[in-house]
Amino acid sequence: MGIIVQKFGGSSVADPDKIKNVARHAIDEFKAGRQVVVVVSAMGKTTDNLLALARQITESPNPREIDMLISTGEQITIAMLAIAIQSMGYDAKSFTGPQVGIVTDSSHRKAKISHINDKKLRKELDAGNIVIVAGFQGMTIDNEVTTLGRGGSDTTAVALAAVLKAEVCDIYTDVDGVYTADPRIVPGARKLDRISYDEMLELASLGAKVLHSRSVEVGKNFNVPIHVRSSFDSVRGTMVVQEAREMEDIVVSGVAHNRNEAKVSIIGVPDRPGVAAQVFGELGAKHIVVDMIIQNVGSQGLNDISFTVSKDDLGEALKLSETIAKNIGAKEVRHDRDIAKVSVVGVGMKSHSGVAATMFKALADKAINIDMISTSEIKISCVISEKDVDNAVRAIHKAFELEAGATK
Ligand code: ADP
Ligand code: ASP
Ligand code: MG
Repeated sequence: MGIIVQKFGGSSVADPDKIKNVARHAIDEFKAGRQVVVVVSAMGKTTDNLLALARQITESPNPREIDMLISTGEQITIAMLAIAIQSMGYDAKSFTGPQVGIVTDSSHRKAKISHINDKKLRKELDAGNIVIVAGFQGMTIDNEVTTLGRGGSDTTAVALAAVLKAEVCDIYTDVDGVYTADPRIVPGARKLDRISYDEMLELASLGAKVLHSRSVEVGKNFNVPIHVRSSFDSVRGTMVVQEAREMEDIVVSGVAHNRNEAKVSIIGVPDRPGVAAQVFGELGAKHIVVDMIIQNVGSQGLNDISFTVSKDDLGEALKLSETIAKNIGAKEVRHDRDIAKVSVVGVGMKSHSGVAATMFKALADKAINIDMISTSEIKISCVISEKDVDNAVRAIHKAFELEAGATK
């Protein structure tokens, strides 16, 4: 009997009626003769609300306790869904991540799944249950509760699909697929029938929150077919698949944006070997992920080093940078929270020139200033002011003729 994993995000389980809708989706698959695992997120904005609750006490709560707090959100949904499915006459059982053997490393708030013991899952499925699993959470080998990073329920689902060798992992959400840009910002964005793991991974890593980037990585590594689709209608969504040949003809397949970055600048850094290694070595040791880095060569043997980190890490990055600045004899540390990153992604960029110029011109035509630039084989990113992000995404989307009906 084939196994299917379905995942429903926060807005798809926001209230009891929506949870009943999810129950019907699960039962439909079960009636079609499949074994069904359903992964759910916390109801609506529950995770945000729990985080806000902790912030009413302190701005820097302990990450272990945050995991204890925010992992409760998903636990409410699993029980509600089990109750809904049972009330419709079918057998269902809910489980937390730890209960179904989801083992992670110990980095709280951004843990990675290291192992899943599928014995219990298989036993419950074989007993005829629709199995419901709390997304976003796991446990370390020391029995500490962890969470997988915001949006991490997608990763729970794809990882379960991988260990269970499921036929497909259906990601049900509030849009009906992956678009060429966030359809909430670009109304003319076009839905993609298929997208390669590599492109989806770039888009997700660059801020397209329709899929958690780690889920795409797991999907790619274990070859899990991922179907992104709507909870609220039954149209076919977007399949995330291995690279397809025809995709190479498409230069740019999407535009992504991320408002969750902040910039730190260490000003007046003495120009000598080893300074960058020290700065980024110390940030890395604290598990702070640095995204873009720029070094401006100044005068009198002094440089400015600027880098971006996630807004969540800004406080810690600033504290560390102040100490480092003092130690290396730099002049001062500045920061800017009001930045955003816009990016274009496309496998076809590998073999096409002029993509960067088109992107820069689109921004220039809207008088949007570029603060930082970074490129890879299949993406170009620019840091701009946060207030310009919607305009920038629309302008770039247009410049690459990505809208529905365009001839590219
Ligand atoms: P869920 O709660 O179901 O996990 P998310 O809010 O995490 O849903 O992700 C879905 C949202 O992702 C959409 O509402 C949409 O605004 C946003 N999004 C960003 N980029 C894209 C894109 N390229 N295609 C589709 N949706 C996108
Ligand atoms: N509830 C978690 C969050 O809001 C996980 C998820 O939705 O995937 O980030
Ligand atoms: Mg999500």
